[in-house]
Amino acid sequence: MAVNLLDFDLDGLTAYCEGLGEKRFRAIQLCRWIHQKGASDFEQMSDLAKSLRSKLAGVAEVRGLDVISEHVSADGTIKWLFDVGGGNAVESVYIPEDDRGTLCVSSQAGCAVGCRFCSTGHQGFSRNLRTGEIIAQLWFAEHRLRQRQQRTAGDRVIDNVVMMGMGEPLQNYDALVPALRTMLSDHAYGLSRRRVTVSTSGVVPMIDRLRVDCPVALAVSLHAPDDTLRTSLVPINRKYPIAELMDACLRYLDAAPRDFITFEYCMLDGVNDTPEHAAALVALVKHRVPCKLNLIPFNPFPASGLTRSPRERVSAFAKTLQDAGIVTTVRKTRGDDIDAACGQLAGEVQDRTNAAERLARRRVIGIQPAMHTEDAP
Ligand code: SAH
Ligand code: SF4
Repeated sequence: MAVNLLDFDLDGLTAYCEGLGEKRFRAIQLCRWIHQKGASDFEQMSDLAKSLRSKLAGVAEVRGLDVISEHVSADGTIKWLFDVGGGNAVESVYIPEDDRGTLCVSSQAGCAVGCRFCSTGHQGFSRNLRTGEIIAQLWFAEHRLRQRQQRTAGDRVIDNVVMMGMGEPLQNYDALVPALRTMLSDHAYGLSRRRVTVSTSGVVPMIDRLRVDCPVALAVSLHAPDDTLRTSLVPINRKYPIAELMDACLRYLDAAPRDFITFEYCMLDGVNDTPEHAAALVALVKHRVPCKLNLIPFNPFPASGLTRSPRERVSAFAKTLQDAGIVTTVRKTRGDDIDAACGQLAGEVQDRTNAAERLARRRVIGIQPAMHTEDAP
């Protein structure tokens, strides 16, 4: 099978070109054609020597993903479902805002972490995406949107990427890093390190590696202020408990493009949203990790058996954090009419882990709903 050039970052492309007996600058030209101009046909690449074009045509290709569907939300959010073969499909979501365009990118077909409140987690895990399959989501979305919005060349649509689609990016580290490097490269998408965010459930050793290899912005899915509750929601916490996670976050800040870590906290009715939880969260992070809190109202799906915290409880929770001096935002729900909101991405996953069964079992053992002060007798 022909080599897919989307699998390479610039270093990989350089090594590949050198292997073909070509100079380094050819790799830069190729990279620009592919990522900046959206070209996939070597014949289009007019400033490449004819001999190189025909050499490439025999052995390499620029192979994107087949689009299964495109849904446009009333608020302008767009969700694409991409076929990744073998009965698996992954989703990407474009979220237009006044001052920027964000693409939410998937890293795996399914996810092996199995968080209770996440519909991807309920689907189980099939496989890691390749670098080319990760970057193909951006390649496709950027050029499709440029064409649709009739932008002039070089005027990019997506200036913010969040690895918050399907999958745990730090459990697909080797494929992730070249994809991130391509997002950052001036010869490709030229995104700022502050505007590429890896979101993780807390794979501590990989947070340390990312700090060294490619320190982009980091979001950590916290969801609970203590280990017992966090383990019941985010099972990987058993392996990497909160204290270790906090230390890894602190170390990450040495290299991070921003001087804070974003903690994501999904607001689950009666589970992690009481005033006591808010106070415990303040005690956990204050004076320990410079951070911002991003509260995400839970986006329900039937199999979860969970419900979204009422608006007033989210506001009260946010206020406790803000009063303690912690910058806190409540994430606006976007695209929920097309199931494109956080945690609703489900794609198609040929599960190899019996996730649904495992999660159903855990649901019986269950999370004991905490008692709310307002519910107290
Ligand atoms: N695996 C990574 C990135 C993908 S999930 C991670 O867990 O961080 C992206 C974000 O969506 C995470 O913060 C996750 O906790 C959140 N999320 C998952 N399911 C959700 C749901 N049903 N409602 C709201 N947010 C959800
Ligand atoms: Fe995986 Fe993230 Fe979903 Fe947890 S929240 S199951 S880590 S995708």
